[in-house]
Amino acid sequence: MDCLCKYSSSEVPTSTPTVVRTKLRHGIERKVLHCEVCDFVFLEPQSADLQEYYREQYRKDYSPSVVREMSPRETFEMYRPYMVERIGRVGPHLLNDMTVLEIGCSTGHFLDALAPHVGERIGIEYNASHAAFVRNELGVPCYTAPIQESGIAQGSIDVIFMFHVFEHVEDPVSFLAGMRPYLSERGSVYIEVPNVDDALVSPYAISEYADFYYREPHISYFSPRSFNLTARLAGFSGEQEMIQRYSLMNHMHWVSARSPMKDAESGMATPTFADDESDFTLAVNQWLAKADDDYRELLKKHERAESMAFLGRPGL
Ligand SMILES: [Zn+2]
Repeated sequence: MDCLCKYSSSEVPTSTPTVVRTKLRHGIERKVLHCEVCDFVFLEPQSADLQEYYREQYRKDYSPSVVREMSPRETFEMYRPYMVERIGRVGPHLLNDMTVLEIGCSTGHFLDALAPHVGERIGIEYNASHAAFVRNELGVPCYTAPIQESGIAQGSIDVIFMFHVFEHVEDPVSFLAGMRPYLSERGSVYIEVPNVDDALVSPYAISEYADFYYREPHISYFSPRSFNLTARLAGFSGEQEMIQRYSLMNHMHWVSARSPMKDAESGMATPTFADDESDFTLAVNQWLAKADDDYRELLKKHERAESMAFLGRPGL
């Protein structure tokens, strides 16, 4: 894979991408490259059968818990409560006669939360046990193949969702352009990715976080600028928003202990110092919740939040 400049006839590259790192999570040696012209950060090219990798091995290498591998049921139960916030964000764009597709739906926690908001739901998930969970436990059709091989009819999907999946695909511009034929007349895409301008990555420059952050499955690392350019090059226009799922407590933990909290659930929860019902504890927890809200807003305002989403439609 190359930087985004190869798609852009007007933006002729004036610099070759520079090496910003040589090591990924788990100590894997591989170069991370950055192009100053398009601001795209990406792993040095390497051939791999990604569909085969995601079928079984991925969740063994990268579990939501840093402690151990989780079952599909445990993964579903862990993420399901956080879908309330996600539905709050995407809900205003949905109608109850829409057919929606989520690519990389994992255990279907988001598809499950969508049930009251849309007509038909479809999932694509390469992980065989997660896809089986979606079909058997949630009763939602779920394919284990790329959209082009799934049998999904062209022009049939009103919204294609991708949450923390787009950074895994090879050649994101071609991948996104390949979604266009499957969208209906009113069709749109909603794509959420990590933001490489994340406060923990650059301004705080926590090397232990960088060792954890850059990982082999993440081929692309988007900034607000390169994410917007990618969408445009794929023939989409729309709007971006910043998302901060991890708390002030999570950032304080990284800054002081220089290590992740024990699981994603603890890292995303609203911080509390105690759980008794005393006036003091209630006041402290209320103050913490306010500080947490303010901090998340500050990160978003400065485009330093950990993730960002693009909502767009075909056409420039
Ligand atoms: Zn470039």
